[in-house]
Amino acid sequence: MSSEFKLNLPLAHIALDRDYLKREQENLFHTLWEQGQAQVLPMSKGRVLLNSSNELKFLPTSLVDRASGLVYLGVHLESETPIVLANVSDEVAREFEPDSNNWHGLRRSGIGLSPSDAAIFTQALALANWHETHQHCPRCGGVTQATRAGWVRYCSNDDLELFPRTDPAVIVGVIDSEDRILLGSQGVWEENRYSILAGYVEPGESLEAAVVREMNEEAGIVVANPRYLGSQAWPFPFSLMLGYLADYVGGTVTPDGQEIVKLRWFSKAELRAEAKSLLLPGRLSIARAIIEHWLGEELDTGE
Ligand SMILES: [Zn+2]
Repeated sequence: MSSEFKLNLPLAHIALDRDYLKREQENLFHTLWEQGQAQVLPMSKGRVLLNSSNELKFLPTSLVDRASGLVYLGVHLESETPIVLANVSDEVAREFEPDSNNWHGLRRSGIGLSPSDAAIFTQALALANWHETHQHCPRCGGVTQATRAGWVRYCSNDDLELFPRTDPAVIVGVIDSEDRILLGSQGVWEENRYSILAGYVEPGESLEAAVVREMNEEAGIVVANPRYLGSQAWPFPFSLMLGYLADYVGGTVTPDGQEIVKLRWFSKAELRAEAKSLLLPGRLSIARAIIEHWLGEELDTGE
């Protein structure tokens, strides 16, 4: 096991002091707009603007209406600037940048960003996705309002506070006694796309139990000794991926036929040889990081 190879998690950098106490401050956005020092990240349909150096494009508060869906993200650790997300309407987005090709999504553009920008984009997108999908109260169906600097949605009918949601999922590199890794292909994917297996943690379940259950459900196998490697947020829409290695100890490898339609063991030599002909997980993903951690080197997929 080449465990010295660093686990490269492009979305897991710490870029901001989340400065959580500031979320309680009355009229925080009014104060920030008066001071004029905050930098505002406009987002439209989960996409952001980039400048010519491929950096996140922030706007001064003077250009952004305080009625936009604002979230206080925190203070930038390098520039010490307050950073605010503005999840803007289509109309406002067109005023900022009319050409929709100049708005960039995290999946496609994330790998070209600095670790700091990628982390800010990840945090902003996860919060924007939560706001988009939690406009109504789960108890009474009434419309909820953003409060506490965008970190709570509030239902006044029920006096109920709703907090941002993160869905944990385990993602597992299963290794056999010959040091091969198990990769699978989903029915909804292109013919030759392969990745390691993953699944959501269920209510009342530990992460380790989720690893064992998911590998049994998707591949018909028994795994043991789950070893935690690291995690990164995956805001599509609001997952947290928890990376593991686990040992194959028994069972016949059998795709579940629902989610997974093909499964195959790869030796390190086979994966190196086929890396350019297979479609493997993108460099932004924890799946890629776990495969490279096992391989002991970066994969050369010819991207
Ligand atoms: Zn309600």
